[in-house]
This record gives sequence, structure tokens and C-alpha cells, in this order.
Amino acid sequence: MTDETQNIALVIGGERVQPDARFEVRNPATGGLAGHAPNAGQDELDRAVAAAAAAFPGWSAKSDEDLQAACMAVADAIEANAEELAQLVTAEQGKPLGGVGSRWEIGGAVAWARYTAGLSLPMQVLQDTNEGRVEMYRKPLGVVGSITPWNFPVLIAVWHILPALRTGNTVVSKPSPHTPLASLRLIELMNGVLPPGVVNSVSGDETGVNLGAAMSSHEGISKIVFTGSCATGQKVMQSSAETMKRLTLEMGGNDAGIVLPDADPQQIAEALFWGAFINNGQTCAAMKRLYVHDDIHDAVCDALVEFARKIPVGEGTDENALLGPVQNRMQFDKVSALVEKAKTSGKVLLGGEPGEGQFYPPTIIAGMTADDPLVYEEQFGPALPIIRYHDIEDAIVQANALDVGLGGSVWSADVERAKEVAKRLECGSVWINSHGMIQPNAPFGGVKKSGFGVEFGEEGLKEYTDIQVIFA
Ligand code: NAD
Repeated sequence: MTDETQNIALVIGGERVQPDARFEVRNPATGGLAGHAPNAGQDELDRAVAAAAAAFPGWSAKSDEDLQAACMAVADAIEANAEELAQLVTAEQGKPLGGVGSRWEIGGAVAWARYTAGLSLPMQVLQDTNEGRVEMYRKPLGVVGSITPWNFPVLIAVWHILPALRTGNTVVSKPSPHTPLASLRLIELMNGVLPPGVVNSVSGDETGVNLGAAMSSHEGISKIVFTGSCATGQKVMQSSAETMKRLTLEMGGNDAGIVLPDADPQQIAEALFWGAFINNGQTCAAMKRLYVHDDIHDAVCDALVEFARKIPVGEGTDENALLGPVQNRMQFDKVSALVEKAKTSGKVLLGGEPGEGQFYPPTIIAGMTADDPLVYEEQFGPALPIIRYHDIEDAIVQANALDVGLGGSVWSADVERAKEVAKRLECGSVWINSHGMIQPNAPFGGVKKSGFGVEFGEEGLKEYTDIQVIFA
């Protein structure tokens, strides 16, 4: 792995670029080396933006059919190289190859790319009368800067880049310094089927220039699509004000699940588990707090713990593993500290002790209350707090009490009853009897401090355009 990643390059204007400096990327399962990534600075960023700007007139002038075909070709290129990308994701991110792991992530990237390629935003006639004809066009913005996190490096890059390309924009993509390798390889593959300059990459370890910050204030970038933490998203918003960038900000959440008294604990245990522990809890729209009605509280806890006990945790290359390590030390320390604090007031039903290296076992803690940090802070890791409730009104108030609102879920045998509760939750998506099941045809985004703008589907595509109205 080490030697192979030495070849991974930035791509700027269709050319492979190898800055003198490279930085180490660690394998979170072993602590060993996953590879080396190019350490770009302001010069490479400026060149990438200039290349994207130079490619924009030609790309944006392409017909809708040509843009669609090019995006389909990108999907094919990802699919043809799926195993290589999956191996890179596992090496740097830690997630297993199997289960809902890196092969699933790359499969999702292909599916999203194809679906997005198939979308279209045709001109709309708003009026056609004797008084005149009014036509509304959706026009691309220019250069889009994509800034991605470390939890689903390839999938989220595809979520950002494909709708940008489909609508005629060109792109500069910047992966997280924790997981740059698969994303950079993705951009190399895209460049195999796209004209030079349409998609460019920069990566850096943030010890010198903070590339994300430099992108947010860059004169040559028209829009930033950002996925990451609330704190960083706010910085992006601040530094892009001067250049009036369009923004899509997909930030952190602290999703609540509410189990109503009529739910069947055995039946929901598996979906509850994966709703909370998908990708080891390192998922924006994972269930991060679980409110369970008094009547079935103990039965739900028992069923959930029984299911969770059987989940194999191990190195991502172990084909039997379904969960891997926590991706980085900072996140590991955060989860450890939150669990230690939670132990002083709650009851650990499963896990609760750090494992070797960056492995942390699935941890379930009952008896939690609203004032516990594990409840009100985003843990972004494998630790689920359970809160007992008596009155659904109280559960709804608690679910809505935080200043973030990405997803939520309601669990019940009565879907109509569950929908009534769902409508009262302050979040962008609510699932009934599942959690976090995003799909490419449904807009996804947060409310409150979880960000603004949506991704996916036609609504997501619109975010990469400005409206122009022609009155004839
Ligand atoms: P992060 O905010 O630390 O980093 C995200 C990206 O921002 C990285 O590429 C980083 O290099 C870059 N960055 C760092 N400083 C920057 C700056 N000043 N300006 C611009 N960019 C900068 O987030 P993370 O730790 O990589 O990811 C975890 C967080 O992401 C969690 O809070 C999670 O909830 C959130 N997330 C949200 C979604 C969603 O769709 N809403 C999806 C995945 C993750």
C-alpha cells in the first residue's frame, strides 16, 4: 500500500501534479502507514482554481445530453475501479471492506453518480400569453469548491462533485487530511474521462496553509459545498461573505430516535442498532440519542444489547468485521471522555471501555438525562445514550431542545401515529422505523445549526445554479 500511494497525485488542468512535499496518512486500525498524500499550498490551489476557471466556458457550453453522458462515464469509471477505491478507503478510514463498509460506500458512489447524471433542470416557461413570454433558465455558477470530511470520503466527494458537473460547473475538490488518498485517486479516475480542468484536486495536512479556509475566501470560487463539523461550517460561512459565495453547508447533527410504546422491541432491534452504529457512529445522520417509552424501555434495551453483542469488530481488511476502529485519535478521545462522564450517572449496558489502539467497542448506556454531555454533544462515535421517557410531549421537547437538526426517527407499529410525531420534529429528515436511510432521489439537509441547503435529487441540483429569467 505504501509504495502504491506514492504515485497518487493532485490533478490540475488535467496534469498530474506532485508537489515536493507529501504527508503521511495513518491506518487507524494498525497505527501504521496507509500512504502518503501530496501536501499542496496556496500556489497549487491558485493553479487549480485557474484551471477550473479556464475549463468553465467550454464545459458550461456543452449540451445537456453531453453533460449527462460525461457524468455517466464518471459513474462507469468509479465502478470499474471500485475495489481499488474500497481498499484505499479501508486503509485510511478504517471501515471494513464488507457490510456497510467501504465496498458499500463505493457502490453508493456509483449509484449516486448514475442517478445524478440522469437528472435534468430544463428551461421552464413561466408565462406564454399575449402579454409576453417568460422563461426561467438555470445557469451554472462557475468554479465550485468542494470540502469533504473523513467519514465517507469517496461518497461525499461524489455527492458534491456530480451535481456540480451535471449543471455545467467546474470543480476544485479538497479531501480531509485524515482521508485524502481514495478521494485523490477518485479525481484521477474522473480525469480519465473528463476534459482537462473540469475537476481538479488539492490536498494538504493543514500544518501550513489551511486549504479549506483559503478556498472559502478565494476570489475565483463561486460556491463552496462543505460537509463537516458545525464549527468549521461557520468559519466557511464567515470567510465566504466577502466574495458572496453560494453555499451548501452540511454540518453536524445530534439525531434523536423516539420509540413509541407500541413498538416491538425484537423487531426493531437490528434497525435501531444500525441506525446508531453505522460506520461506527461516525455518520452525520446517525441516531445519536435514543428516547424509549417507559413501558418497553427495558425490553428495547435488552433486545438492542443482545443484537449489538454479536457484531464483529476488527481490522477493516478482516472480511468478517462489520465495524472497524474510530478514524482518528481526536475523535477516539472525545468518545472516551463522553463515555467516562456518562458512567458517573448512567448504567453501561454494553462496552464502555476503550479497546486497543483506536478500537472502541459498541457502547450502550441507559439512564441518561438531558444534562449529560453524551446526550447534548455530538459524540460522532460508537456510543449510544438511552433516555427513558413517560410522556411523548416531553420526548418531543427534548428531541427538539438542541440547536442542531439533521435527522430524526420515530419507531412504532402505527405508521400514521409515528408520522404525527415525525412532523413535529425539528430536523430535515425523519425516518419511521429506520434511521439515516438517505437516498439519491430525496433532498437531504439540516435545519437550525446543522446547516442550510440540500443535497440530492432535483432540489440538490438547483443548489449549483443561479436563476436567469428572460422576458420576451
Ligand atoms: P471538520 O469540520 O473538522 O472538517 C471538514 C473539512 O473541512 C475537512 O476537509 C477539513 O480539512 C476542512 N477544514 C478545516 N478547517 C477549515 C476551515 N477553516 N475552512 C474550511 N474548511 C476547513 O469535520 P470532520 O471532523 O472531518 O467531520 C466530522 C463532522 O462532519 C461531524 O460533525 C459530522 O456530523 C459532520 N458531517 C456532516 C454530514 C452532513 O451531511 N451533514 C456528513 C458527514 C459528516
